Amino acid sequence: MSNFVETIMADVKAKNQAQPEFHQAVQEVIESLEPVIAQHPEYKEAKILERIIEPERVIMFRVPWVDDQGTVQINRGFRVEFNSAIGPYKGGLRFHPSVTLSILKFLGFEQIFKNSLTTLPMGGGKGGSDFQPKGRSDDEVMRFCQSFMNELFRHIGPNTDIPAGDIGVGGREIGYLFGQYKKLRNAFEGILTGKGLAWGGSLIRPEATGYGTAYFLKEVLNHRKETIDGKTICISGYGNVGCYFIEKANELGAKVVTISDEFGYVHDPEGIKGEKLDYLKDLWTIYRESAEQYAKKFNLKWVPERRPWEVKCDIAVPTATQNEIEKDDALNLVKNGCIAVCEGANMPSSPEAIDVFMQNGIAFGPGKAVNAGGVAVSGLEMSQNSMRFNWSRDEVDAKLHVIMKDIHTSVITAADKYGTPGNYVNGANIAGFIKVANAMMDQGIV
Ligand code: GLU
Repeated sequence: MSNFVETIMADVKAKNQAQPEFHQAVQEVIESLEPVIAQHPEYKEAKILERIIEPERVIMFRVPWVDDQGTVQINRGFRVEFNSAIGPYKGGLRFHPSVTLSILKFLGFEQIFKNSLTTLPMGGGKGGSDFQPKGRSDDEVMRFCQSFMNELFRHIGPNTDIPAGDIGVGGREIGYLFGQYKKLRNAFEGILTGKGLAWGGSLIRPEATGYGTAYFLKEVLNHRKETIDGKTICISGYGNVGCYFIEKANELGAKVVTISDEFGYVHDPEGIKGEKLDYLKDLWTIYRESAEQYAKKFNLKWVPERRPWEVKCDIAVPTATQNEIEKDDALNLVKNGCIAVCEGANMPSSPEAIDVFMQNGIAFGPGKAVNAGGVAVSGLEMSQNSMRFNWSRDEVDAKLHVIMKDIHTSVITAADKYGTPGNYVNGANIAGFIKVANAMMDQGIV
């Protein structure tokens, strides 16, 4: 670690104790930005880095609700409004027992750069709760969402902060949250994205993160004079990102052979397609079942308590959660001949795993570039809400495709310009940062 990084990190750790995921996300960005700061003393003087790592606002609140047995339950709610230099705060809500301030600060921080890369005017934010929707009835989820919105509604608005989904928050939760906001404010406004099609949602939003990940992967492979056609891919997860990634990867001629959840993985050597993919899409959203059910239904082996990265593949696409690829997993992927890793999830690779990929010449696409298609189509949903008009499926998909290509170009260009050609981590951090930094410079010390 250089002196420059060490000084900033010492301060970040002292001020944000017990936030290891936030430290991890900040360190990666600061390391990438060193050459930028060296060339731009004006950023240093204006303390852009010190300002960008401090959220503009953090809201924490009590979420009380009553379960089906009549027992009072208390959860903790959060919204981290991180940076609004280039647009209103934008980013998802995560409902999962692992949610802490550290997790949401890492996600909100990443979101600043991701949103900047999309080319659309969106600042960075993230929120959520330690609530676990798994195992809860629809009524319980509704009561929880209503209580959550009873506080959140004061802080959001179509020009202020526009949350969306993330882990544990899908169409059902967005519906309950939207209904409660509308009742409290008596206003039908685009305050959330990922809405239902009949009430302000956009076509392609459910598919966007997965499709965008596949489009980005295609660019990465083209850049290496490779093609996606005929490749074998391992993914983790089986949610929204995973399912629509599989759909697009199949269309582009690849074969996806694994899915997983926190309890284990399934290897399906034939590839997940046709009726199997249809079943998988419903597995969580409708049946709310574990990935193990897929193994049972199609007579495949369920491998408990292990990760899919031990299965031989050409490409790995983690679509589940943070730090789900650690050093040993990365070494397994290298040993098995993997040539590219593209992150459909947010920060799924640990820093040690990323080092292994870099040292072994694996093309590594970080989440903030690879999975930006989701929030990009959220941005397009906001545009459509403002126009009070809807684009067709093909129109939105074409815009998404262009955005993902543009992100790839700007990442590669920034990596080249600052002396690390082919380094997608540096390229994404630098390209995302420069736009936000310049906007902050223009707007003065605020
Ligand atoms: N949660 C998604 C992400 O990590 C989407 C956010 C959004 O659409 O605002 O980017």
